Amino acid sequence: MIEAQGLTKRYGGTLAVDDLSFTVEPGRITGFLGPNGAGKTTTMRLILGLDRPTRGTVTVNGRQLRDLAWPMREVGALLDAKAVHGGRSAYHHLLCLAQTNDLPRRRVEEVLDLVGLREVARKRCGEFSLGMGQRLGIAAALLGDPSILMFDEPVNGLDPEGILWIRNLMKALAAEGKTVFVSSHLMSEMENTADHLIVIGRGRLIAECSVEEFIAANSQQSVRVRTPQPDMLSAAAAGAGATVRHDRSGVLTVLGMTAAQVGDLAFEHGIRLHELAPAQASLEEAFMELTASSVEFHAGLPRGAGQHEPAGVVGGMAPGAARTGEVA
Ligand code: ADP
Repeated sequence: MIEAQGLTKRYGGTLAVDDLSFTVEPGRITGFLGPNGAGKTTTMRLILGLDRPTRGTVTVNGRQLRDLAWPMREVGALLDAKAVHGGRSAYHHLLCLAQTNDLPRRRVEEVLDLVGLREVARKRCGEFSLGMGQRLGIAAALLGDPSILMFDEPVNGLDPEGILWIRNLMKALAAEGKTVFVSSHLMSEMENTADHLIVIGRGRLIAECSVEEFIAANSQQSVRVRTPQPDMLSAAAAGAGATVRHDRSGVLTVLGMTAAQVGDLAFEHGIRLHELAPAQASLEEAFMELTASSVEFHAGLPRGAGQHEPAGVVGGMAPGAARTGEVA
């Protein structure tokens, strides 16, 4: 378990992490979401004791990391896969870590097998592809068989096979009862991976909830309708205060009403319906809505020039929370 209380980190004039309090529970994957520059890496560095908080505390399994005799046995982390000695083989990189942490040599073989690097274990790390480098970083994180694992943007630049592999590995680790904390600015990835979310913007907590709750709270209700009388339905829905969008195939999307309300409205106006279904908003859409206020420029447009207004539980987000164009 990871527990942060009022965690704050200031770098000169930049408040990178601003009064963050959250809990990361064992036995599930917690996604740490936020646009680039939101403070995810800084938070992870604070958890690992690589930086000192300006204010607040963070503990792993109830203790500060610096008080642990063998931190690698408690927390394993992949922050920067390139932070290895390029001239060393994968085997020797891991062996060096094992020996300085009083871990048995056979554990090196085990983690090499776990991440599928046995065949290339004697190759120099400097010759590794991005995907192999990520696997080596994960092998190092797993070395001490820690109960807490943290991965900072682990799928960046990986091919679909690599992404699937990491996703399945994280699921397996969570199923074993481990605490898995993974950061990403890719909402679509988190939607398929995370059980729980901690969402931050400009260093501040925006939401801490399940993926389903996040989508429900931050996306507008919409209903997909097919009818041979689209103009009548549009007029009736607009009269009831909803917004209606038409697409070229004749499908209407009614925003701001439930499927039951649209069905009742059609019945009252004698409108025939051929299809009526609640539309599921994706996490990506929910996140875009939520963080729309945190970017100065959105899809190349200046603020106020056509981007969505934020919806739902936004708190503490100031204009310019992320750098230009960084929300994917
Ligand atoms: P994320 O991981 O969400 O992309 P970061 O934690 O890397 O965000 O950065 C948060 C903010 O803190 C950014 O504005 C970044 O420029 C700033 N920052 C991060 N590390 C440092 C540092 N060592 N010195 C100065 N500013 C930093």
